[in-house]
Amino acid sequence: MTASPQPVDPFDLVIFGGTGDLAVRKLLPALYHRFVDGQIPGSSRIIGVAREGLDDDGYRTTIRKALLEGGADASKVDTFLPQVSYRSLDARKDDGWDAFATLMGEQPNHVRVFYLSTSPDLFVDICNRLGSYGLNKGEARVVLEKPIGRNLASANQINDAVGRVFDESQTFRIDHYLGKETVQNLLALRFGNALFEPLWNAEHIDHVQITVAETLGVGQRVAYYDHAGALRDMVQNHILQLLCMVAMEPPSSLAPDAVRDEKLKVLRSLKPIDGGNAAQLTVRGQYRAGAADGQGVPGYLDELKDHKSNTETFTALKAEIANWRWAGVPFYLRTGKRLPERVSEIVVVFKEVPHSIFDPSAGVLAQNRLVLRLQPDENIKLWVTIKHPGPGGLRLRYVSLDMSFAEAFGVQQPDAYERLLLDVVRGNPTLFMRRDEVEAAWRWADPILAAWADSGETPRQYTSGTWGPSAAVALIERDGRNWYEDSE
Ligand code: NAP
Repeated sequence: MTASPQPVDPFDLVIFGGTGDLAVRKLLPALYHRFVDGQIPGSSRIIGVAREGLDDDGYRTTIRKALLEGGADASKVDTFLPQVSYRSLDARKDDGWDAFATLMGEQPNHVRVFYLSTSPDLFVDICNRLGSYGLNKGEARVVLEKPIGRNLASANQINDAVGRVFDESQTFRIDHYLGKETVQNLLALRFGNALFEPLWNAEHIDHVQITVAETLGVGQRVAYYDHAGALRDMVQNHILQLLCMVAMEPPSSLAPDAVRDEKLKVLRSLKPIDGGNAAQLTVRGQYRAGAADGQGVPGYLDELKDHKSNTETFTALKAEIANWRWAGVPFYLRTGKRLPERVSEIVVVFKEVPHSIFDPSAGVLAQNRLVLRLQPDENIKLWVTIKHPGPGGLRLRYVSLDMSFAEAFGVQQPDAYERLLLDVVRGNPTLFMRRDEVEAAWRWADPILAAWADSGETPRQYTSGTWGPSAAVALIERDGRNWYEDSE
């Protein structure tokens, strides 16, 4: 029997950027689903904030439409919407803030969550205003969306400014990959079974691959993306966080700092990549025109319209962790836009058996693989060799065991934001990045960015709809390995 989810304490959740893509497409639907499951107490308030001059009804109409398009039940949506309201505010102007503070004061005992779903250049203004009205006091928390800065220096500026208003214990830096069911399941598999942990080291694991592949191009996000690129947008946060979850030592408990201390040690153990070795250990690419889902698509520079840009839309890296557990085990990381498939996946590849007792005619012995898929569907598969069933001699087959069991339990997997939003209300930061983690990740990423800038080289072009530049294949093939692109 699965226990029903427990309601959280009554809260006020203010979404700055409440009309934006993230709020409408992800945050409000996540809150709706938790409401339907009975976890959101009736007196809780969800308040969207943006500059647009909407009233409550106008905002509810937008949210209603988005929820219904996402398949929500109309009558349940109508029960949910009275808890949603809207305030028009400009983070940079005084108008309306007095009234907003009065609104907040109506429920002094509620947990207060301020979700900054805006461009990071508004974080400081918003926090300063919240602080000047004393809205940072008591059970108040702030949620910061990525990207936090574009290098260590700018991340420190943001964290310093936010830190003058909210304590570290009130600050929730969200990385939605950590809220995914598969990542929770990785913890359960690693630390809830005696089976894996003894094998989870350089003696038994050959290498690890982490891929975050998108089929989309930059689209509407050109202005942001051209200032960021794949390393800042995906590797410095999501991919390094996944790497930490795979590589960390067993924490003594799931207490927030126990987990985050172990992740930090991994980040600090990453071998530096800089001007001396970036050419061997990294590949940068930029998509040119090609095809996506059978349709012709323009190249990155075409989307920028005559703009010359060295921004990478693809990167592949060979990372190494300098500690006893992982010495000599490469972590191949890659991410890109306009790749052939939308998939986010961690592949843990075990070493070959030391000696084969089988006749070559029985078939080829493949390495065991544990494949943790985060997108588009979530599942975990363990690839093993078995005997082909039935008569006909001993023939080997390589098959996958489905270890996610979502279907077996008949549960629908919650979106990562559902778990993370309620963790913020509960005040549980285990799955959020602590400031020192963000800093350690930038300390590793900054020299790579500097090496690329100093090289004077342009990113390698790759055709849209392919797996990036051929140099990314060479990066792993030089080590006698290959990317797994078909883990089904
Ligand atoms: P977006 O669609 O551009 O939305 C930005 C929001 O901020 C809008 O509601 C906008 O409304 C509001 N806004 C802009 N200037 C404002 C001001 N001066 N005062 C108050 N509100 C203001 O952006 P998004 O895609 O939702 O992304 C939000 C943040 O989440 C970004 O940092 C992004 O990098 C991050 N993020 C997004 C996604 C995603 O899937 N979209 C995923 C991960 C991270 P008005 O113009 O009406 O003010």
